[in-house]
Amino acid sequence: HKHAEAENNKQESKKFPSSLKRGGPKNLLVADHLIDEDDSDINKPRLVILGSGWGAISVIKALERDKYHITLVSPQNYFLFTPLLPSATVGTLETRSILEPIRSLIKGISAHFLEAKATDICINEKLVELSPDSGEPFYLPYDKLVIAVGSLSITYGIEGIEHCHFLKSINDARRIRKKIMDNFEKASLPTTSPEEKKRLLSFIVCGGGPTGVEFAAELYDFLTEDVVRYFPLILRNEVRVSIIQGQDHILNTYDAKISDFAEKKFRRDNINVITNARVQKIEPNHIVYKMKDGEVKEHDYGLVLWSTGIAMNPLTKTISEKLEDQKNTRALITDNRLRLKGVPDSSVYAIGDCSTIENPKLVNQLMQFFVDADEDKNGRLSYNEFQVLAKKISRRYPITKSHLKKADILFASYDKDKSGTIELEELNAMLEDIDKKLTSLPATAQVAHQQGKYLGKKLNQIAAAHNAKIYPPSSDYSTDTDKPEPDVDDLLPPFSYAHFGSLAYVGNAAVADFGTGWTWMGGMSAVYLWRSVYLSEQVSFRTRALLALDWSKRFLFGRDISKF
Ligand code: FAD
Repeated sequence: HKHAEAENNKQESKKFPSSLKRGGPKNLLVADHLIDEDDSDINKPRLVILGSGWGAISVIKALERDKYHITLVSPQNYFLFTPLLPSATVGTLETRSILEPIRSLIKGISAHFLEAKATDICINEKLVELSPDSGEPFYLPYDKLVIAVGSLSITYGIEGIEHCHFLKSINDARRIRKKIMDNFEKASLPTTSPEEKKRLLSFIVCGGGPTGVEFAAELYDFLTEDVVRYFPLILRNEVRVSIIQGQDHILNTYDAKISDFAEKKFRRDNINVITNARVQKIEPNHIVYKMKDGEVKEHDYGLVLWSTGIAMNPLTKTISEKLEDQKNTRALITDNRLRLKGVPDSSVYAIGDCSTIENPKLVNQLMQFFVDADEDKNGRLSYNEFQVLAKKISRRYPITKSHLKKADILFASYDKDKSGTIELEELNAMLEDIDKKLTSLPATAQVAHQQGKYLGKKLNQIAAAHNAKIYPPSSDYSTDTDKPEPDVDDLLPPFSYAHFGSLAYVGNAAVADFGTGWTWMGGMSAVYLWRSVYLSEQVSFRTRALLALDWSKRFLFGRDISKF
Protein backbone atom coordinates (compact mmCIF):
# COMPACT_ATOMS: atom_id res chain seq x y z
CA HIS A 1 0.00 0.00 0.00
CA LYS A 2 2.83 2.37 1.01
CA HIS A 3 4.63 1.57 -2.20
CA ALA A 4 1.54 2.34 -4.29
CA GLU A 5 1.07 5.63 -2.44
CA ALA A 6 4.70 6.65 -2.99
CA GLU A 7 4.41 5.78 -6.66
CA ASN A 8 1.21 7.79 -6.90
CA ASN A 9 2.86 10.84 -5.29
CA LYS A 10 5.81 10.49 -7.65
CA GLN A 11 3.47 10.46 -10.66
CA GLU A 12 1.55 13.44 -9.30
CA SER A 13 4.67 15.49 -8.64
CA LYS A 14 5.64 14.89 -12.26
CA LYS A 15 2.24 16.09 -13.45
CA PHE A 16 1.81 19.10 -11.16
CA PRO A 17 4.03 21.73 -9.57
CA SER A 18 5.50 20.49 -6.29
CA SER A 19 3.40 23.01 -4.34
CA LEU A 20 0.18 21.16 -5.18
CA LYS A 21 -1.09 19.01 -2.32
CA ARG A 22 -4.32 17.15 -1.80
CA GLY A 23 -6.86 18.28 0.78
CA GLY A 24 -10.37 19.52 1.55
CA PRO A 25 -13.50 17.43 2.15
CA LYS A 26 -13.09 15.47 -1.12
CA ASN A 27 -9.29 15.16 -0.96
CA LEU A 28 -8.81 16.98 -4.27
CA LEU A 29 -5.67 18.80 -5.43
CA VAL A 30 -5.51 22.26 -3.85
CA ALA A 31 -4.23 24.92 -6.23
CA ASP A 32 -2.72 27.45 -3.85
CA HIS A 33 0.22 28.11 -6.18
CA LEU A 34 -1.68 30.94 -7.91
CA ILE A 35 0.04 33.36 -5.56
CA ASP A 36 2.94 34.83 -7.51
CA GLU A 37 6.14 34.12 -5.62
CA ASP A 38 7.82 37.22 -7.00
CA ASP A 39 5.01 39.38 -5.63
CA SER A 40 6.34 41.84 -3.06
CA ASP A 41 3.47 41.07 -0.66
CA ILE A 42 2.92 37.34 -0.58
CA ASN A 43 0.52 37.67 2.38
CA LYS A 44 -2.13 39.62 0.52
CA PRO A 45 -5.58 38.05 0.82
CA ARG A 46 -6.72 35.76 -2.00
CA LEU A 47 -9.74 37.05 -3.87
CA VAL A 48 -11.58 34.60 -6.13
CA ILE A 49 -14.25 35.86 -8.53
CA LEU A 50 -16.61 33.36 -10.16
CA GLY A 51 -17.97 34.44 -13.55
CA SER A 52 -16.89 36.67 -16.42
CA GLY A 53 -20.15 38.52 -17.01
CA TRP A 54 -21.45 41.94 -16.04
CA GLY A 55 -21.08 41.56 -12.29
CA ALA A 56 -17.59 40.02 -12.35
CA ILE A 57 -16.19 42.51 -14.87
CA SER A 58 -17.51 45.45 -12.91
CA VAL A 59 -15.73 44.16 -9.79
CA ILE A 60 -12.52 43.76 -11.81
CA LYS A 61 -12.78 47.27 -13.24
CA ALA A 62 -13.23 48.80 -9.79
CA LEU A 63 -10.46 46.81 -8.06
CA GLU A 64 -7.09 48.41 -7.44
CA ARG A 65 -3.92 46.61 -8.37
CA ASP A 66 -1.84 45.07 -5.54
CA LYS A 67 -4.64 44.82 -2.97
CA TYR A 68 -5.35 41.10 -3.48
CA HIS A 69 -4.08 37.99 -5.24
CA ILE A 70 -6.95 37.87 -7.71
CA THR A 71 -8.17 34.83 -9.63
CA LEU A 72 -11.14 34.95 -11.97
CA VAL A 73 -12.83 31.68 -12.83
CA SER A 74 -15.30 31.11 -15.65
CA PRO A 75 -16.09 28.49 -18.31
CA GLN A 76 -16.08 31.39 -20.82
CA ASN A 77 -12.79 33.17 -21.45
CA TYR A 78 -14.63 36.28 -22.63
CA PHE A 79 -17.08 38.92 -21.49
CA LEU A 80 -20.34 38.99 -23.46
CA PHE A 81 -22.18 42.27 -23.98
CA THR A 82 -25.67 40.70 -23.58
CA PRO A 83 -27.84 43.73 -24.47
CA LEU A 84 -26.66 43.42 -28.08
CA LEU A 85 -27.06 39.64 -28.29
CA PRO A 86 -30.42 39.83 -30.17
CA SER A 87 -28.59 41.79 -32.93
CA ALA A 88 -26.20 38.84 -33.39
CA THR A 89 -29.04 36.41 -34.16
CA VAL A 90 -29.67 37.82 -37.64
CA GLY A 91 -26.19 39.12 -38.41
CA THR A 92 -26.78 42.83 -37.70
CA LEU A 93 -23.70 42.48 -35.52
CA GLU A 94 -20.99 39.86 -35.76
CA THR A 95 -20.61 37.67 -32.69
CA ARG A 96 -16.99 38.66 -32.06
CA SER A 97 -17.96 42.33 -31.95
CA ILE A 98 -19.86 41.81 -28.70
CA LEU A 99 -17.16 39.75 -26.97
CA GLU A 100 -14.07 40.93 -25.16
CA PRO A 101 -11.34 38.43 -24.17
CA ILE A 102 -11.22 38.20 -20.42
CA ARG A 103 -7.43 38.08 -20.31
CA SER A 104 -7.20 41.55 -21.84
CA LEU A 105 -9.60 42.88 -19.19
CA ILE A 106 -7.74 41.46 -16.19
CA LYS A 107 -4.24 42.29 -17.40
CA GLY A 108 -4.26 45.72 -15.77
CA ILE A 109 -4.70 44.32 -12.26
CA SER A 110 -2.38 41.30 -12.70
CA ALA A 111 -5.13 38.80 -12.04
CA HIS A 112 -5.07 35.12 -13.02
CA PHE A 113 -7.75 33.51 -15.16
CA LEU A 114 -8.83 29.88 -14.92
CA GLU A 115 -11.14 28.41 -17.53
CA ALA A 116 -13.30 26.15 -15.41
CA LYS A 117 -16.74 25.84 -13.87
CA ALA A 118 -17.18 26.24 -10.13
CA THR A 119 -19.21 23.28 -8.95
CA ASP A 120 -19.29 23.73 -5.16
CA ILE A 121 -17.92 25.79 -2.32
CA CYS A 122 -16.71 24.57 1.07
CA ILE A 123 -17.60 27.44 3.39
CA ASN A 124 -15.67 26.22 6.46
CA GLU A 125 -12.46 25.36 4.61
CA LYS A 126 -12.76 28.39 2.30
CA LEU A 127 -12.29 26.33 -0.87
CA VAL A 128 -14.06 26.51 -4.23
CA GLU A 129 -14.32 23.28 -6.19
CA LEU A 130 -13.49 23.85 -9.85
CA SER A 131 -14.09 21.54 -12.81
CA PRO A 132 -12.22 22.34 -16.02
CA ASP A 133 -13.64 21.06 -19.31
CA SER A 134 -10.97 18.41 -19.44
CA GLY A 135 -8.85 17.29 -16.51
CA GLU A 136 -9.71 16.51 -12.92
CA PRO A 137 -11.56 18.79 -10.50
CA PHE A 138 -9.49 20.71 -7.95
CA TYR A 139 -9.87 23.16 -5.09
CA LEU A 140 -8.97 26.82 -5.16
CA PRO A 141 -8.53 28.47 -1.74
CA TYR A 142 -9.95 31.93 -1.09
CA ASP A 143 -10.05 34.54 1.61
CA LYS A 144 -12.77 36.50 -0.18
CA LEU A 145 -15.11 34.96 -2.75
CA VAL A 146 -17.41 36.76 -5.18
CA ILE A 147 -20.13 34.66 -6.80
CA ALA A 148 -21.27 36.28 -10.07
CA VAL A 149 -22.30 33.26 -12.11
CA GLY A 150 -25.51 34.62 -13.64
CA SER A 151 -28.57 32.51 -14.31
CA LEU A 152 -30.28 30.04 -16.65
CA SER A 153 -33.57 30.48 -18.52
CA ILE A 154 -36.61 29.48 -16.53
CA THR A 155 -38.63 26.76 -18.27
CA TYR A 156 -41.48 26.02 -15.79
CA GLY A 157 -41.11 22.32 -16.63
CA ILE A 158 -42.95 22.88 -19.94
CA GLU A 159 -43.24 19.67 -21.96
CA GLY A 160 -41.15 19.77 -25.15
CA ILE A 161 -38.93 22.67 -24.05
CA GLU A 162 -36.01 20.90 -25.77
CA HIS A 163 -37.48 22.00 -29.13
CA CYS A 164 -36.93 25.65 -28.21
CA HIS A 165 -33.98 27.94 -28.73
CA PHE A 166 -32.76 30.11 -25.84
CA LEU A 167 -30.92 33.40 -26.07
CA LYS A 168 -28.40 33.58 -23.22
CA SER A 169 -25.02 32.82 -24.74
CA ILE A 170 -23.04 33.56 -27.87
CA ASN A 171 -23.54 29.96 -29.01
CA ASP A 172 -27.31 30.40 -28.68
CA ALA A 173 -27.10 33.41 -31.02
CA ARG A 174 -24.99 31.43 -33.51
CA ARG A 175 -27.43 28.51 -33.45
CA ILE A 176 -30.41 30.82 -34.00
CA ARG A 177 -28.69 32.61 -36.89
CA LYS A 178 -27.92 29.30 -38.56
CA LYS A 179 -31.45 27.97 -38.01
CA ILE A 180 -33.04 31.11 -39.48
CA MET A 181 -30.87 30.87 -42.61
CA ASP A 182 -31.53 27.14 -42.78
CA ASN A 183 -35.29 27.73 -42.75
CA PHE A 184 -35.10 30.40 -45.45
CA GLU A 185 -32.94 28.22 -47.70
CA LYS A 186 -35.22 25.17 -47.22
CA ALA A 187 -38.31 27.29 -47.82
CA SER A 188 -36.80 28.43 -51.15
CA LEU A 189 -36.44 24.89 -52.51
CA PRO A 190 -38.87 24.01 -55.30
CA THR A 191 -39.47 20.63 -53.62
CA THR A 192 -40.78 22.18 -50.38
CA SER A 193 -44.57 21.94 -50.12
CA PRO A 194 -46.55 25.15 -49.48
CA GLU A 195 -47.57 23.85 -46.01
CA GLU A 196 -43.98 23.07 -45.08
CA LYS A 197 -42.86 26.44 -46.44
CA LYS A 198 -45.49 28.14 -44.27
CA ARG A 199 -44.28 26.24 -41.20
CA LEU A 200 -40.59 26.93 -41.87
CA LEU A 201 -41.31 30.63 -42.16
CA SER A 202 -43.24 30.85 -38.90
CA PHE A 203 -41.15 32.26 -36.05
CA ILE A 204 -42.55 32.26 -32.52
CA VAL A 205 -41.20 34.10 -29.51
CA CYS A 206 -42.45 32.92 -26.11
CA GLY A 207 -42.17 35.85 -23.71
CA GLY A 208 -42.88 39.52 -24.37
CA GLY A 209 -40.08 40.95 -22.21
CA PRO A 210 -37.24 43.05 -23.65
CA THR A 211 -35.23 40.06 -24.99
CA GLY A 212 -38.20 38.52 -26.83
CA VAL A 213 -39.29 41.90 -28.17
CA GLU A 214 -35.79 42.81 -29.37
CA PHE A 215 -35.38 39.45 -31.09
CA ALA A 216 -38.74 39.90 -32.90
CA ALA A 217 -37.65 43.43 -33.89
CA GLU A 218 -34.31 42.22 -35.28
CA LEU A 219 -36.12 39.51 -37.23
CA TYR A 220 -38.47 42.11 -38.66
CA ASP A 221 -35.50 44.29 -39.77
CA PHE A 222 -33.91 41.27 -41.41
CA LEU A 223 -37.10 40.42 -43.30
CA THR A 224 -37.70 43.92 -44.59
CA GLU A 225 -34.09 44.77 -45.39
CA ASP A 226 -32.49 41.52 -46.58
CA VAL A 227 -35.01 38.75 -47.25
CA VAL A 228 -36.90 40.86 -49.80
CA ARG A 229 -33.58 41.58 -51.49
CA TYR A 230 -31.99 38.13 -51.58
CA PHE A 231 -34.85 35.58 -51.48
CA PRO A 232 -36.97 36.27 -54.57
CA LEU A 233 -39.04 33.11 -54.02
CA ILE A 234 -40.19 34.24 -50.58
CA LEU A 235 -42.80 36.94 -50.23
CA ARG A 236 -42.72 39.18 -47.18
CA ASN A 237 -46.28 38.23 -46.21
CA GLU A 238 -45.36 34.53 -46.23
CA VAL A 239 -43.18 35.08 -43.16
CA ARG A 240 -44.98 35.18 -39.81
CA VAL A 241 -43.46 36.46 -36.58
CA SER A 242 -45.54 35.95 -33.42
CA ILE A 243 -45.00 36.82 -29.77
CA ILE A 244 -46.87 34.81 -27.14
CA GLN A 245 -47.09 36.75 -23.90
CA GLY A 246 -48.64 35.60 -20.62
CA GLN A 247 -49.52 39.13 -19.43
CA ASP A 248 -51.90 41.77 -20.83
CA HIS A 249 -49.10 43.62 -22.63
CA ILE A 250 -45.60 43.15 -23.99
CA LEU A 251 -42.79 45.08 -22.23
CA ASN A 252 -45.04 45.08 -19.17
CA THR A 253 -42.26 46.19 -16.79
CA TYR A 254 -41.95 49.42 -18.80
CA ASP A 255 -44.23 52.44 -18.68
CA ALA A 256 -47.68 51.72 -20.17
CA LYS A 257 -47.03 54.32 -22.91
CA ILE A 258 -44.03 52.26 -24.07
CA SER A 259 -45.95 48.98 -24.16
CA ASP A 260 -48.62 50.72 -26.18
CA PHE A 261 -46.06 52.22 -28.60
CA ALA A 262 -44.36 48.83 -29.13
CA GLU A 263 -47.66 47.00 -29.65
CA LYS A 264 -48.85 49.55 -32.22
CA LYS A 265 -45.49 49.44 -34.00
CA PHE A 266 -45.57 45.63 -34.13
CA ARG A 267 -49.15 45.64 -35.41
CA ARG A 268 -48.06 47.95 -38.28
CA ASP A 269 -45.08 45.66 -38.96
CA ASN A 270 -47.33 42.59 -39.13
CA ILE A 271 -45.84 41.04 -36.01
CA ASN A 272 -48.58 39.05 -34.34
CA VAL A 273 -48.74 39.86 -30.59
CA ILE A 274 -50.79 37.26 -28.69
CA THR A 275 -51.34 38.41 -25.09
CA ASN A 276 -52.89 36.66 -22.06
CA ALA A 277 -51.76 33.30 -23.41
CA ARG A 278 -49.89 30.53 -21.57
CA VAL A 279 -47.82 27.99 -23.45
CA GLN A 280 -48.87 24.46 -22.48
CA LYS A 281 -46.56 22.28 -24.52
CA ILE A 282 -44.23 22.36 -27.46
CA GLU A 283 -44.46 19.61 -30.04
CA PRO A 284 -41.68 19.21 -32.66
CA ASN A 285 -43.61 21.26 -35.26
CA HIS A 286 -46.31 23.14 -33.38
CA ILE A 287 -46.88 24.90 -30.10
CA VAL A 288 -49.98 24.57 -27.91
CA TYR A 289 -51.13 27.51 -25.79
CA LYS A 290 -54.15 28.40 -23.71
CA MET A 291 -55.88 31.78 -23.74
CA LYS A 292 -57.13 33.44 -20.55
CA ASP A 293 -60.71 32.56 -21.50
CA GLY A 294 -59.76 28.86 -21.56
CA GLU A 295 -59.58 28.41 -25.35
CA VAL A 296 -56.68 26.15 -26.40
CA LYS A 297 -54.92 27.03 -29.65
CA GLU A 298 -52.12 25.61 -31.79
CA HIS A 299 -49.55 27.35 -33.95
CA ASP A 300 -47.07 25.78 -36.39
CA TYR A 301 -43.49 26.94 -36.14
CA GLY A 302 -40.13 26.71 -37.86
CA LEU A 303 -38.29 28.21 -34.87
CA VAL A 304 -39.36 28.96 -31.28
CA LEU A 305 -37.41 31.25 -29.01
CA TRP A 306 -38.04 30.73 -25.29
CA SER A 307 -37.42 33.86 -23.25
CA THR A 308 -39.61 34.04 -20.18
CA GLY A 309 -37.32 34.83 -17.27
CA ILE A 310 -34.49 33.41 -15.23
CA ALA A 311 -33.74 30.47 -12.91
CA MET A 312 -30.84 29.34 -10.73
CA ASN A 313 -27.85 27.66 -12.32
CA PRO A 314 -26.46 24.38 -10.86
CA LEU A 315 -23.82 26.09 -8.68
CA THR A 316 -26.25 28.52 -7.05
CA LYS A 317 -28.72 25.68 -6.49
CA THR A 318 -26.00 23.61 -4.76
CA ILE A 319 -24.99 26.53 -2.54
CA SER A 320 -28.53 27.48 -1.66
CA GLU A 321 -29.36 23.88 -0.69
CA LYS A 322 -26.45 23.63 1.74
CA LEU A 323 -27.07 26.93 3.55
CA GLU A 324 -29.94 27.17 6.01
CA ASP A 325 -30.62 30.87 5.49
CA GLN A 326 -31.22 30.39 1.77
CA LYS A 327 -34.89 29.73 1.07
CA ASN A 328 -35.43 31.62 -2.15
CA THR A 329 -35.78 29.32 -5.13
CA ARG A 330 -34.88 32.00 -7.67
CA ALA A 331 -31.53 33.28 -6.43
CA LEU A 332 -28.99 33.39 -3.58
CA ILE A 333 -30.04 35.72 -0.78
CA THR A 334 -27.62 38.41 0.38
CA ASP A 335 -27.84 41.17 2.94
CA ASN A 336 -27.73 44.78 1.81
CA ARG A 337 -23.91 44.65 1.81
CA LEU A 338 -24.15 41.82 -0.76
CA ARG A 339 -22.80 39.23 1.72
CA LEU A 340 -24.18 35.74 1.25
CA LYS A 341 -26.69 34.95 4.01
CA GLY A 342 -25.70 31.94 6.09
CA VAL A 343 -21.93 32.50 5.87
CA PRO A 344 -20.71 33.44 9.34
CA ASP A 345 -17.98 35.93 8.28
CA SER A 346 -17.86 38.48 5.47
CA SER A 347 -15.96 36.15 3.14
CA VAL A 348 -18.56 35.33 0.46
CA TYR A 349 -20.49 37.81 -1.67
CA ALA A 350 -23.07 37.21 -4.41
CA ILE A 351 -23.98 39.73 -7.09
CA GLY A 352 -25.95 40.06 -10.31
CA ASP A 353 -28.57 37.66 -11.67
CA CYS A 354 -27.60 34.84 -9.29
CA SER A 355 -28.44 36.91 -6.22
CA THR A 356 -31.24 38.80 -4.58
CA ILE A 357 -31.02 41.25 -1.69
CA GLU A 358 -33.19 40.49 1.28
CA ASN A 359 -35.61 43.36 1.21
CA PRO A 360 -35.71 45.74 4.10
CA LYS A 361 -39.36 46.41 4.76
CA LEU A 362 -40.36 49.93 3.72
CA VAL A 363 -42.78 50.13 6.61
CA ASN A 364 -39.83 49.78 9.02
CA GLN A 365 -38.55 53.07 7.68
CA LEU A 366 -41.93 54.75 8.15
CA MET A 367 -40.84 57.39 10.67
CA GLN A 368 -37.74 58.29 8.69
CA PHE A 369 -39.73 58.62 5.45
CA PHE A 370 -42.38 60.68 7.16
CA VAL A 371 -40.01 63.07 8.92
CA ASP A 372 -37.85 63.54 5.80
CA ALA A 373 -40.84 64.22 3.56
CA ASP A 374 -42.67 66.53 5.96
CA GLU A 375 -40.71 69.63 4.97
CA ASP A 376 -42.87 72.18 6.80
CA LYS A 377 -42.91 69.91 9.86
CA ASN A 378 -46.66 70.17 10.42
CA GLY A 379 -47.10 66.42 10.98
CA ARG A 380 -48.91 65.87 7.68
CA LEU A 381 -47.77 65.40 4.09
CA SER A 382 -49.15 67.78 1.48
CA TYR A 383 -49.53 66.51 -2.08
CA ASN A 384 -46.22 68.16 -3.08
CA GLU A 385 -44.38 66.58 -0.15
CA PHE A 386 -45.99 63.24 -0.96
CA GLN A 387 -44.86 63.46 -4.60
CA VAL A 388 -41.23 63.92 -3.52
CA LEU A 389 -41.56 60.91 -1.23
CA ALA A 390 -43.14 58.79 -3.99
CA LYS A 391 -40.30 59.68 -6.38
CA LYS A 392 -37.68 58.83 -3.77
CA ILE A 393 -39.19 55.42 -3.07
CA SER A 394 -39.66 54.51 -6.73
CA ARG A 395 -36.08 55.53 -7.59
CA ARG A 396 -34.74 53.29 -4.85
CA TYR A 397 -37.13 50.40 -5.44
CA PRO A 398 -37.87 50.43 -9.19
CA ILE A 399 -40.26 47.54 -8.88
CA THR A 400 -42.68 49.82 -7.02
CA LYS A 401 -42.62 52.28 -9.91
CA SER A 402 -45.94 51.19 -11.38
CA HIS A 403 -47.52 51.44 -7.94
CA LEU A 404 -46.25 54.96 -7.35
CA LYS A 405 -46.52 56.27 -10.90
CA LYS A 406 -49.90 57.87 -10.56
CA ALA A 407 -49.10 59.83 -7.41
CA ASP A 408 -52.36 61.82 -7.62
CA ILE A 409 -54.53 58.68 -7.67
CA LEU A 410 -52.43 57.08 -4.96
CA PHE A 411 -52.63 60.20 -2.83
CA ALA A 412 -56.41 60.33 -3.13
CA SER A 413 -56.79 56.62 -2.35
CA TYR A 414 -54.73 56.78 0.87
CA ASP A 415 -56.10 60.12 2.01
CA LYS A 416 -58.97 58.29 3.67
CA ASP A 417 -60.27 61.27 5.67
CA LYS A 418 -60.12 63.44 2.51
CA SER A 419 -58.26 66.16 4.40
CA GLY A 420 -56.02 66.89 1.38
CA THR A 421 -53.04 65.67 3.40
CA ILE A 422 -51.60 62.26 4.29
CA GLU A 423 -51.36 61.40 7.98
CA LEU A 424 -48.87 58.99 9.53
CA GLU A 425 -51.37 56.07 9.67
CA GLU A 426 -52.35 56.65 6.07
CA LEU A 427 -48.71 56.52 4.98
CA ASN A 428 -48.28 53.39 7.07
CA ALA A 429 -51.15 51.73 5.16
CA MET A 430 -49.55 52.69 1.86
CA LEU A 431 -46.11 51.35 2.79
CA GLU A 432 -47.65 48.09 3.98
CA ASP A 433 -49.33 47.69 0.60
CA ILE A 434 -46.08 48.41 -1.23
CA ASP A 435 -44.19 45.96 0.99
CA LYS A 436 -46.58 43.26 -0.16
CA LYS A 437 -45.81 44.07 -3.79
CA LEU A 438 -42.12 44.69 -3.36
CA THR A 439 -39.96 42.02 -4.91
CA SER A 440 -36.23 41.95 -5.52
CA LEU A 441 -34.24 44.13 -7.92
CA PRO A 442 -34.66 43.27 -11.60
CA ALA A 443 -32.16 40.85 -13.15
CA THR A 444 -30.43 43.35 -15.41
CA ALA A 445 -26.93 44.26 -16.48
CA GLN A 446 -27.51 47.63 -14.83
CA VAL A 447 -28.02 46.04 -11.41
CA ALA A 448 -25.10 43.58 -11.87
CA HIS A 449 -22.83 46.44 -12.98
CA GLN A 450 -23.69 48.69 -10.02
CA GLN A 451 -23.31 45.83 -7.56
CA GLY A 452 -19.94 44.84 -9.07
CA LYS A 453 -18.68 48.42 -8.94
CA TYR A 454 -19.83 48.83 -5.34
CA LEU A 455 -18.20 45.55 -4.33
CA GLY A 456 -14.91 46.26 -6.14
CA LYS A 457 -14.58 49.62 -4.38
CA LYS A 458 -15.54 48.10 -1.06
CA LEU A 459 -12.96 45.32 -1.40
CA ASN A 460 -10.32 48.00 -1.98
CA GLN A 461 -11.40 49.77 1.19
CA ILE A 462 -11.43 46.55 3.21
CA ALA A 463 -7.92 45.63 2.04
CA ALA A 464 -6.66 49.14 2.77
CA ALA A 465 -8.22 49.11 6.25
CA HIS A 466 -6.66 45.73 7.07
CA ASN A 467 -3.27 46.74 5.71
CA ALA A 468 -3.13 49.97 7.61
CA LYS A 469 -5.10 48.63 10.57
CA ILE A 470 -7.01 51.84 10.29
CA TYR A 471 -10.73 51.48 10.33
CA PRO A 472 -13.29 54.01 9.22
CA PRO A 473 -14.15 56.24 12.20
CA SER A 474 -16.55 54.54 14.55
CA SER A 475 -17.21 55.68 18.10
CA ASP A 476 -17.90 52.05 18.95
CA TYR A 477 -14.50 50.83 17.94
CA SER A 478 -11.91 53.56 18.29
CA THR A 479 -12.14 54.01 22.07
CA ASP A 480 -12.90 50.58 23.51
CA THR A 481 -9.85 48.33 23.10
CA ASP A 482 -11.48 45.32 24.83
CA LYS A 483 -14.01 44.91 22.07
CA PRO A 484 -13.15 42.53 19.24
CA GLU A 485 -12.07 44.14 15.98
CA PRO A 486 -15.19 45.15 14.09
CA ASP A 487 -15.92 43.71 10.69
CA VAL A 488 -14.79 46.51 8.37
CA ASP A 489 -17.64 45.62 6.07
CA ASP A 490 -20.17 46.58 8.75
CA LEU A 491 -18.65 50.04 8.92
CA LEU A 492 -18.89 50.71 5.19
CA PRO A 493 -22.17 51.88 3.60
CA PRO A 494 -24.66 49.32 2.27
CA PHE A 495 -25.37 48.91 -1.44
CA SER A 496 -28.01 51.20 -2.86
CA TYR A 497 -29.32 50.96 -6.39
CA ALA A 498 -29.96 53.95 -8.64
CA HIS A 499 -32.19 53.25 -11.62
CA PHE A 500 -31.05 55.08 -14.76
CA GLY A 501 -33.79 53.76 -17.02
CA SER A 502 -34.38 50.90 -19.42
CA LEU A 503 -33.94 50.79 -23.18
CA ALA A 504 -35.38 48.48 -25.80
CA TYR A 505 -35.01 48.21 -29.58
CA VAL A 506 -38.31 47.68 -31.39
CA GLY A 507 -37.27 47.54 -35.06
CA ASN A 508 -35.89 50.73 -36.63
CA ALA A 509 -37.28 52.43 -33.54
CA ALA A 510 -36.33 52.37 -29.88
CA VAL A 511 -37.92 53.14 -26.52
CA ALA A 512 -36.47 54.43 -23.29
CA ASP A 513 -38.10 54.39 -19.87
CA PHE A 514 -36.14 56.61 -17.50
CA GLY A 515 -38.39 55.80 -14.53
CA THR A 516 -40.72 58.13 -12.62
CA GLY A 517 -42.93 58.51 -15.69
CA TRP A 518 -40.29 59.99 -18.06
CA THR A 519 -40.20 58.10 -21.36
CA TRP A 520 -38.83 58.54 -24.87
CA MET A 521 -40.05 56.69 -27.93
CA GLY A 522 -39.08 57.30 -31.50
CA GLY A 523 -37.74 56.20 -34.84
CA MET A 524 -34.16 56.54 -35.99
CA SER A 525 -33.35 59.36 -33.53
CA ALA A 526 -34.15 56.98 -30.66
CA VAL A 527 -32.17 54.21 -32.39
CA TYR A 528 -29.12 56.50 -32.50
CA LEU A 529 -29.58 57.23 -28.78
CA TRP A 530 -29.87 53.48 -28.12
CA ARG A 531 -26.69 52.82 -30.12
CA SER A 532 -24.73 55.63 -28.52
CA VAL A 533 -25.64 54.44 -25.01
CA TYR A 534 -24.37 50.96 -25.85
CA LEU A 535 -21.26 52.31 -27.55
CA SER A 536 -20.45 54.31 -24.43
CA GLU A 537 -20.95 51.25 -22.21
CA GLN A 538 -18.43 49.08 -24.07
CA VAL A 539 -15.68 47.61 -21.94
CA SER A 540 -12.97 48.33 -24.53
CA PHE A 541 -12.16 50.61 -27.44
CA ARG A 542 -11.80 47.49 -29.61
CA THR A 543 -15.46 46.40 -29.28
CA ARG A 544 -16.59 50.02 -29.64
CA ALA A 545 -14.78 50.22 -33.00
CA LEU A 546 -16.06 46.79 -34.11
CA LEU A 547 -19.66 47.76 -33.34
CA ALA A 548 -19.38 51.02 -35.26
CA LEU A 549 -17.92 49.09 -38.21
CA ASP A 550 -20.69 46.45 -38.09
CA TRP A 551 -23.43 49.08 -38.06
CA SER A 552 -21.76 50.89 -41.01
CA LYS A 553 -21.26 47.58 -42.87
CA ARG A 554 -24.92 46.70 -42.49
CA PHE A 555 -25.89 50.18 -43.74
CA LEU A 556 -23.66 49.88 -46.82
CA PHE A 557 -23.92 46.19 -47.78
CA GLY A 558 -26.78 44.68 -45.75
CA ARG A 559 -26.34 41.67 -43.48
CA ASP A 560 -24.13 38.71 -44.26
CA ILE A 561 -26.69 35.99 -45.03
CA SER A 562 -24.26 33.11 -45.54
CA LYS A 563 -25.05 30.05 -43.44
CA PHE A 564 -22.20 28.38 -41.64
P1 FAD B 1 -23.78 37.11 -16.55
O1 FAD B 1 -23.48 38.37 -17.25
O2 FAD B 1 -24.74 36.16 -17.20
O3 FAD B 1 -22.43 36.36 -16.27
C1 FAD B 1 -22.37 35.12 -15.65
C2 FAD B 1 -20.98 34.57 -15.85
O4 FAD B 1 -20.79 33.45 -15.01
C3 FAD B 1 -20.69 34.08 -17.27
O5 FAD B 1 -19.42 34.52 -17.63
C4 FAD B 1 -20.73 32.57 -17.14
O6 FAD B 1 -19.91 31.94 -18.07
C5 FAD B 1 -20.17 32.40 -15.74
N1 FAD B 1 -20.55 31.16 -15.08
C6 FAD B 1 -21.69 30.47 -15.19
N2 FAD B 1 -21.65 29.38 -14.40
C7 FAD B 1 -20.43 29.41 -13.79
C8 FAD B 1 -19.80 28.55 -12.85
N3 FAD B 1 -20.41 27.45 -12.39
N4 FAD B 1 -18.56 28.87 -12.45
C9 FAD B 1 -17.92 29.98 -12.92
N5 FAD B 1 -18.49 30.82 -13.79
C10 FAD B 1 -19.73 30.53 -14.21
N6 FAD B 1 -29.80 43.80 -19.03
C11 FAD B 1 -29.88 45.14 -19.14
O7 FAD B 1 -29.70 45.85 -18.15
N7 FAD B 1 -30.15 45.73 -20.35
C12 FAD B 1 -30.36 45.01 -21.48
O8 FAD B 1 -30.60 45.57 -22.54
C13 FAD B 1 -30.26 43.60 -21.39
N8 FAD B 1 -30.43 42.83 -22.49
C14 FAD B 1 -30.27 41.49 -22.40
C15 FAD B 1 -30.38 40.72 -23.55
C16 FAD B 1 -30.20 39.34 -23.49
C17 FAD B 1 -30.31 38.53 -24.74
C18 FAD B 1 -29.92 38.73 -22.24
C19 FAD B 1 -29.71 37.24 -22.17
C20 FAD B 1 -29.82 39.48 -21.10
C21 FAD B 1 -29.99 40.87 -21.16
N9 FAD B 1 -29.89 41.66 -20.01
C22 FAD B 1 -29.97 43.02 -20.12
C23 FAD B 1 -29.70 41.05 -18.69
C24 FAD B 1 -28.22 41.01 -18.36
O9 FAD B 1 -27.49 40.41 -19.37
C25 FAD B 1 -28.01 40.26 -17.07
O10 FAD B 1 -28.81 40.79 -16.07
C26 FAD B 1 -26.53 40.34 -16.68
O11 FAD B 1 -25.76 39.67 -17.63
C27 FAD B 1 -26.30 39.75 -15.31
O12 FAD B 1 -24.94 39.81 -15.04
P2 FAD B 1 -24.25 38.64 -14.18
O13 FAD B 1 -22.84 39.04 -14.00
O14 FAD B 1 -25.06 38.34 -13.01
O15 FAD B 1 -24.37 37.36 -15.11
